[in-house]
Amino acid sequence: MSLVCKNCGAVYKGKISPYSKFVKCTYCDSVIVVPSAEGPAVIPRKDFSIEQFKAFLAKRGVSSFDPVSGILRFGNQEVIVHEDGTISGSKTLKPRVEKWLHKFMSQK
Ligand SMILES: [Zn+2]
Repeated sequence: MSLVCKNCGAVYKGKISPYSKFVKCTYCDSVIVVPSAEGPAVIPRKDFSIEQFKAFLAKRGVSSFDPVSGILRFGNQEVIVHEDGTISGSKTLKPRVEKWLHKFMSQK
């Protein structure tokens, strides 16, 4: 991502903290607004139902999910789906499960 100063057209090459909403132009000291960075997909958690998620996975042929423990096994990989809709565990499997979870949440 490169920021361009609207005042003098210079490209801002300094550091941009992921939390800062604006930076100052190195050349003319004008304020450059930092477009809000795309963070990780936020999953609405309030109506997450682990039982429904199990049914959703079963429809996709994934039957190795145990809603009681929240453990989902895939080969020798394992992740835990928590009741609040967060996922922890295998780094390889996690993005896949997150995708499913995202699909599951967005179909409502
Ligand atoms: Zn400038």
